[in-house]
Amino acid sequence: MIGSTRVETCDVCIVGAGIAGLNALFAASRYLSRDQKVILVDRRARVGGMWVDVYPYVRLHQPHPMFTAGNIEWTLGKDRSYLATKGEVLDHFQHCVDVIRERVQLDEYFGWDFESEEEANGIVRATCRAADGRVVVVEAKRLIKAYGLAVTPNEPLQISSKRLHSVSPDYCDVRAGDIRKSDAPVWIIGGGKTAMDTAHALITEYPGREVNMVAGRGTFFSSRDKLLPSGAERWWNGKPLGTVAAEMGRRFDGTNGAEVRDWFRATYGTSLTPQADNFVLGVLSEAENRTIAAGLNRLVMDYFEDAVDRNGTTELVFRSGATKAIQPGSWIVNCTGYVGFTGEYPYEPYVSPSGAVVSINLRSSILHLPAFMGYFLGHLLFLDKIKDLPLYEVDWQELKHKLPTEFPYVLFALVQHNLSLIYDSVPVRVFNENGLDFEKWYPLPRRLPGLARFMLTHRRERERQRRVLDTVHDRFGIRCGPLSEEYAPSART
Ligand SMILES: Cc1cc2nc3c(=O)[nH]c(=O)nc-3n(C[C@H](O)[C@H](O)[C@H](O)COP(=O)(O)OP(=O)(O)OC[C@H]3O[C@@H](n4cnc5c(N)ncnc54)[C@H](O)[C@@H]3O)c2cc1C
Repeated sequence: MIGSTRVETCDVCIVGAGIAGLNALFAASRYLSRDQKVILVDRRARVGGMWVDVYPYVRLHQPHPMFTAGNIEWTLGKDRSYLATKGEVLDHFQHCVDVIRERVQLDEYFGWDFESEEEANGIVRATCRAADGRVVVVEAKRLIKAYGLAVTPNEPLQISSKRLHSVSPDYCDVRAGDIRKSDAPVWIIGGGKTAMDTAHALITEYPGREVNMVAGRGTFFSSRDKLLPSGAERWWNGKPLGTVAAEMGRRFDGTNGAEVRDWFRATYGTSLTPQADNFVLGVLSEAENRTIAAGLNRLVMDYFEDAVDRNGTTELVFRSGATKAIQPGSWIVNCTGYVGFTGEYPYEPYVSPSGAVVSINLRSSILHLPAFMGYFLGHLLFLDKIKDLPLYEVDWQELKHKLPTEFPYVLFALVQHNLSLIYDSVPVRVFNENGLDFEKWYPLPRRLPGLARFMLTHRRERERQRRVLDTVHDRFGIRCGPLSEEYAPSART
């Protein structure tokens, strides 16, 4: 105790118990022994991150075995291609914690908010506070802040009309309650994964009901059938993601996002409309796409601004200035983007100058998805390599905002660049134990050509991707490159 403040000590403190934090925890457990301790802190009440309070009818968009911590296997006993439900995902999170607890001591601080950290004499002190005001200071050799995508529940859209129901899927299960009792039309606002899940739920739950979507510029998805075919088809059909990434890497030069988008959408994509041009790495099957396309009454390619009561009618007002009269009593479901940047997370480098604090956040992304960042940064931290590798970081937020079309292809370039560096500096088991790897969907004989190509060409490709990333930085002024001197770990300055 310092005064009335409790002090806990451990080898590593991890903030964030989502998929990113659990992968960092998995990596840590590979280096720590049973008498060493990890403290896991999360402001949510349990493990699972955003899955704890996301809408109830969400389905995992990739086959469930590839959504895990490290190589921990699912115990669901369902076909590999099965898309897990929210409850099943949460159960698996708990299972991962139970498995890891067999290797290392783990103390959980759920319901605790991490507030700040300070480093002195090789120790990091993390101050955390409970809702009732209690404070604990965690003293650790290392701190991993796994904020990841920082997803929080969506609120209903604020609308002027008094004649409509404005709801959010996170608080209104569209399959139950008042929306079920009513047969009024539903207007889904948004065209991404949540919109697709919501449309699918409504269309299959209430055949014949009027369901509409306001999809902005439209989102396209990777076709699950083309990238992750199910059953025996894995032996001859589909294209391993590594091969797709290599094809993409050869096409993208840092400036030609529209051209690469057109190729990717035509070759591997699926969407409700051919002009959909937003791609945020989501996956959808052709069957889901067909069901939604057939069940939607209207697909409006515009942005929702407001709903107003005017001269006896109720109208949707769009960004283009267009309006659409709709039936009073209709439901407006907010499925606009989640990956919010509330300003709570200012820029922070993925590793602190001392090398003791790792931050898995979108402002300093070193890979495309936080789960991968948790996994690889966790390993690099414990292998003591994190300070030496000249990894590139990308500010996701800035990239998405300034270069929405180039966004996914820049992330692929980043992945190819950084994974090549990581591959050269970690033991091969680190890659072998990475259960998140989409490549592992395919049987080994189908992966071998891609593996051989990677081993032969990745250094040359790394140079090419470095030039692509430098172009993005130089041409568009986006934070995209090695850590700046101000933040670079002491070993590299
Ligand atoms: C609707 C929706 C559906 C999705 N579906 C899929 C899918 O099917 N497949 C897929 O791969 N991805 C999906 N994603 C992306 C998904 O968000 C990630 O896959 C993943 O679950 C995010 O995990 P994370 O660990 O990065 O972040 P989070 O799950 O957000 O976890 C971060 C944790 O850190 C905690 N935290 C943050 N700051 C603090 C603090 N200061 N103190 C204490 N705790 C803190 C938060 O409480 C949170 O629990 C989806 C996203 C959304 C929004």
